[in-house]
Amino acid sequence: MKKNTYYNFSAGPATLPLTVLQQAQAEMLNWHDTGFSIMEIGHRTELFQQLLTEIKNDLRQLVNIPSHYHVLFFAGGANTQFSAVPMNLLGDKQHADYFNTGVWSVLAMQEAKKYCQVNDVTTAVPNACYAIPDKTTWQFDPRAAYVHYTSNETITGVQFHQIPDVGSVPLVADMTSCFLSQPIDISQFGLIYAAAQKNFGQAGVTLIIVRDDVLSQALAITPATLDYQLQIKNNSCLNTPPTYAIYILGLMLQWLKQQGGLSAMEKINRRKAAKLYAAIDASDFYHNQVNPTDRSIMNVTFTLPDENLTKQFLHIAQQAGLYQLRGHKKLGGIRASIYNAMPEAGVDTLLAVMKNFERS
Ligand SMILES: *Cc1c(COP(=O)(O)O)cnc(C)c1O
Repeated sequence: MKKNTYYNFSAGPATLPLTVLQQAQAEMLNWHDTGFSIMEIGHRTELFQQLLTEIKNDLRQLVNIPSHYHVLFFAGGANTQFSAVPMNLLGDKQHADYFNTGVWSVLAMQEAKKYCQVNDVTTAVPNACYAIPDKTTWQFDPRAAYVHYTSNETITGVQFHQIPDVGSVPLVADMTSCFLSQPIDISQFGLIYAAAQKNFGQAGVTLIIVRDDVLSQALAITPATLDYQLQIKNNSCLNTPPTYAIYILGLMLQWLKQQGGLSAMEKINRRKAAKLYAAIDASDFYHNQVNPTDRSIMNVTFTLPDENLTKQFLHIAQQAGLYQLRGHKKLGGIRASIYNAMPEAGVDTLLAVMKNFERS
């Protein structure tokens, strides 16, 4: 099977642009005329340090990151940041606010509870996993060191389309499944973290963007590798960083630039999602449970009338070259993850399969 003859709707690790994979392949045995693979080059060499600097500069330019924000590359995925965030941001405080809008929020809260008292901002609206609870119901704890939210809940397909206003308390966002899908005003945030394998790279590296002034002395129990201030001092190289994943992230940034940057990506991403939701809404056969104004532009979930039809649909889709459309095991149904690297033609093919299947 050739990469350009099928579409991969995996929620993560997710599809990468063909040209990025081809460039990685072409450079695999001889990176920048070194005679070595990028995998075989020391992280403290001038060569790799230069690459890190270039990637950081590309990112700063692409996202427009103000100079009082640090950019860090961590191993350990987004789940590791569920612990690193409280350990680095609590300082003398013992409380933190969390929006609970789905599975990833809950996992972040569970980890945070090991280090502090967690207040569920959205507790007034139980099971808020198919809609972002209305502002008027939010309950903040005045003692909170920070407010955490999950910008896009990857499993249900619920997304904040506005940055929540939390006043002067630092806002922390898990943007793992939506970072770099659209322009973003970094200055609204104290800290953003995003594992790369959904929307801008491969598994292994997590990007952190953190404002200078939100960093407290890390808790005494903080592992050195998870101490943001130590990692800032060491340019993310306190220990060996995930060098190959960082390299692929760098290629993705160049690809995003070639696509016209984040405004151009947003237009395409919105158009892809709008087409799918319009088809679902126009049909009595497919159903999406998410509040229309809170629907994700990255993960489009829908159900068919029964499990048997869902199985048949997945089978027919695969025959048409559409892969990994099965919904998360907790939800069932279908999930089309349509991140940056999913071509619009993939969505158009999916729409055609949906129409034909409904008719038959
Ligand atoms: C996938 C995902 C995670 C988990 O990422 P890991 O790198 O596997 O730890 C966390 N949050 C969100 C929003 C995700 O989509």
